[in-house]
Amino acid sequence: MMLSHTFLLRVQNMTKCHESLASVLGGRKRRLELAPLVGCIFEPQKSVTFVENARAPAALEQLDIWGVPMDGAAMSHEVETFDVIIAGGGLTGLPLALALAKGGFEVAVVDTLDPAVDVDPAFDGRVSSIADASLRMLEELGIAKHLDGQLQPINDIVVTDGRPGETAAPLFLHFDHKEIGETPLGAMVENRHLRVALRTALATAHGVTLLAPERIVSFDVSPSEVLVTLGNGGVLKGALLVGADGRRSQVRKQAGIQTVGWSYGQSGIVTTVEHELPHDGVAQEYFLPSGPFAVLPMVGNRASLVWTEQSDLADALLGLDDQGFAEECSKRFGPYLGDMKPIGPRWSYPLSLQLARDYVRPRIALAGDAAHGIHPLAGQGLNLGLRDVAALADVLVDARRVGLDIGALVTLHRYERWRRFDNVSLAVACDGLNRLFSNDVVPLRLLRDVGLGLVNRIGPARRFFMRLAGGGVGDLPRLMRGDRL
Ligand SMILES: Cc1cc2nc3c(=O)[nH]c(=O)nc-3n(C[C@H](O)[C@H](O)[C@H](O)COP(=O)(O)OP(=O)(O)OC[C@H]3O[C@@H](n4cnc5c(N)ncnc54)[C@H](O)[C@@H]3O)c2cc1C
Repeated sequence: MMLSHTFLLRVQNMTKCHESLASVLGGRKRRLELAPLVGCIFEPQKSVTFVENARAPAALEQLDIWGVPMDGAAMSHEVETFDVIIAGGGLTGLPLALALAKGGFEVAVVDTLDPAVDVDPAFDGRVSSIADASLRMLEELGIAKHLDGQLQPINDIVVTDGRPGETAAPLFLHFDHKEIGETPLGAMVENRHLRVALRTALATAHGVTLLAPERIVSFDVSPSEVLVTLGNGGVLKGALLVGADGRRSQVRKQAGIQTVGWSYGQSGIVTTVEHELPHDGVAQEYFLPSGPFAVLPMVGNRASLVWTEQSDLADALLGLDDQGFAEECSKRFGPYLGDMKPIGPRWSYPLSLQLARDYVRPRIALAGDAAHGIHPLAGQGLNLGLRDVAALADVLVDARRVGLDIGALVTLHRYERWRRFDNVSLAVACDGLNRLFSNDVVPLRLLRDVGLGLVNRIGPARRFFMRLAGGGVGDLPRLMRGDRL
């Protein structure tokens, strides 16, 4: 059995030690790349964690440093072995854990947040549109059954171009789900309810260990495994580490994967409103000059507003008193649902595009926002992440069936090829729509209004976009088709 120990390093001769370390490390705080020391981080006068083997103490001696156990006693941890280690237990990481466990893998999920924190109503005001194909996966993974009464079906989507306080342009786009089938285009769910459902499903799943709150300090990849060092000094060993740790992914950074992208200079204001008349499951998207204003149906006579504004203006709007904020909302909202009033807190999210250049490295894969962060105007960011989950689960299950190494590049490249094109094309489409619609330039207004009107009149185009919104276009992984892994 391998043990990981945390040692406080006592340095005999600082000058000599620094010289020898500099020659090995080439920097102040770097991975110690001596073969016998696995997963070792050096911070002068601080602690070092390494996986013990016979030659480790000798290697330390060579460097003229020696370790004494912290607080006089070695903090020993058994190295726990899993098939897959997931960094990030968010809306991408947890479904991935459930999917892989269903596929027969032993999985560890590590998340920095205390599980009690992100289900608190004050933590996240977002409500996500879950496409029909994503819902099929949530059903297959036993998550949807814990969302009883929390899913608001999206029956229709209406897209219009306008200005605050004016009636919408006469040319608009209307997607009616009945044109392509009986099932709604998707459903709206509050993120916090989805998190509760995921954790409930996790509690009864076999093969998943959730380590939270806990952080990943570093990881080391060798030809046969990846060793992950945790903040508490523990070490996890696996065949694959998945970075589902969001836009600021530490896994992505440590794997040296670059990103491309830019800030939109816009923020997404999110709040919930109560209204007088029933919404009938219709989602409205108004393209206003400063950005899209989405009215998304929620359970009851409630709607979630996702209101894109230039960031400086968004700050001013967030600072308004309740009455001023309600007036600004209703100017954009219009009278179609009767009297309305904002309820609950207001949130703001800075908007940017961020695409990872690669999704994989040996024994490393990225999924969800760690791989792609897009503009929320089409409500597709999480849906892309869920498609990553389904595709990665397919690829890993298939690889294991034929005896392939699940962490090998040849396996992981199949996942990258499958997902990157879909993610980039949707990111580019959302970026283009945001540029085309977030302005008040008259020729562009004319062009986009005619475009909306044309798509609305051409049945096959209209139906294609509806299938796209429902997530039913392209090469769907098994879980998204509602099939077993
Ligand atoms: C205003 C707005 C509205 C949106 N609406 C929609 C919508 O309607 N439909 C839709 O599909 N998408 C929508 N999105 C996008 C969607 O919210 C995101 O794509 C989704 O939340 C990403 O989930 P994730 O799990 O990949 O990342 P995150 O939600 O960022 O989760 C990352 C997780 O990793 C953990 N973590 C971070 N660092 C570490 C670490 N070092 N070690 C361990 N854990 C770590 C974090 O604690 C967190 O739990 C919207 C986005 C915005 C901003």
